Amino acid sequence: MPVTTQDLLTCLHRMAEVIEANREYLTALDAAIGDADHGINMDRGFKAALKRLPPVEDKDAGTILKTVGVALVSTVGGAGGPLYGTAFMQAGTVLGGKYELEPQDVLAALDAALQGVVMRGKANLGDKTMVDALTPAVNALREALQNGANIADALEQAALAAEQGMKDTIPMLAKKGRASYLGERSIGHQDPGATSTYLLLRVMADVAREKYG
Ligand code: ADP
Ligand code: MG
Repeated sequence: MPVTTQDLLTCLHRMAEVIEANREYLTALDAAIGDADHGINMDRGFKAALKRLPPVEDKDAGTILKTVGVALVSTVGGAGGPLYGTAFMQAGTVLGGKYELEPQDVLAALDAALQGVVMRGKANLGDKTMVDALTPAVNALREALQNGANIADALEQAALAAEQGMKDTIPMLAKKGRASYLGERSIGHQDPGATSTYLLLRVMADVAREKYG
């Protein structure tokens, strides 16, 4: 059974809820190694994105995702907004014209999201950014699908890999973004962007489990 645009919309609404519920948590993580705004930024961005969804709800997955991306870029300041905005826009580009998504489409979209973040932010693996959660997630998704997993199981693997990637940022020295200004003092703190990336992957896995698990 393919993933529908209705599933995608469910996912986006749940993402907004989870980001709102974790607003203080993400902001506290950013207070330790940044400027204490990541949760506020993400919450503002997802709320703005939800407001823009009604007119495109009957459109293809690409249009829906690009609408979210543009909302994030235009309402969220700092690094996080443009990076997540690019991720959603690039995912949307891959899914242009599609109303039903096969597992390979989901993989292609997440991979495009990752490439978008890397293109825009130039972070390498190990720089203590969202890339450290998203890269293992995409790899795990690809591997699970290659091994014949269904979309729910494959996204579960992706979420678990993102969670591990998020935890793995704790001992890292930040080399990109505001946290890099701290140098050695960034060590020992979990990266806020890697954490929000994990939370979004967790939503995708949970929504897929409820419908296709
Ligand atoms: P800002 O740092 O401008 O306040 P946010 O607090 O919203 O923006 O987001 C911070 C997060 O953005 C970091 O935790 C990190 O994961 C991510 N980030 C920062 N710079 C980069 C980059 N160059 N590439 C990828 N991710 C980055
Ligand atoms: Mg910040």
